[in-house]
Amino acid sequence: MSDCIFCKIAAKEIPSSIVYEDDRILAFKDINPAAPVHILVIPRQHISSAMEIDESNADIVSHIFKICKKIAGDMGIAETGFRIVNNCGHDGGQTVGHIHFHLLGGRALSWPPG
Ligand code: AMP
Ligand code: ZN
Repeated sequence: MSDCIFCKIAAKEIPSSIVYEDDRILAFKDINPAAPVHILVIPRQHISSAMEIDESNADIVSHIFKICKKIAGDMGIAETGFRIVNNCGHDGGQTVGHIHFHLLGGRALSWPPG
């Protein structure tokens, strides 16, 4: 999608600090980190939100989770623990309309979320 910031990051039209990429997904550091480790993992394909996941594209979610596990190992937070978050829609706190998964760790995270 031409006006989507995360599509532009995937196309490298906007710079980002990439920690992992393959033919289907990209992972990069969040510009405003909420934890010592804060990575965003996105599909290259524009999917607006979790509400657009269906049989045709659901495989990308399992791939993203597998890569989150790998990144957690690379970042040294596999043993201490981490959180994978998807914010969906207004009340979920989604601010970018391209599905993304936050990988957060490096400190003890509180629960429940605000
Ligand atoms: P959400 O509120 O779940 O939609 O998360 C969007 C996230 O994208 C926020 O944590 C932002 O800090 C992050 N973000 C926005 N623009 C950029 C960017 N250009 N590079 C890296 N992270 C970004
Ligand atoms: Zn997009």
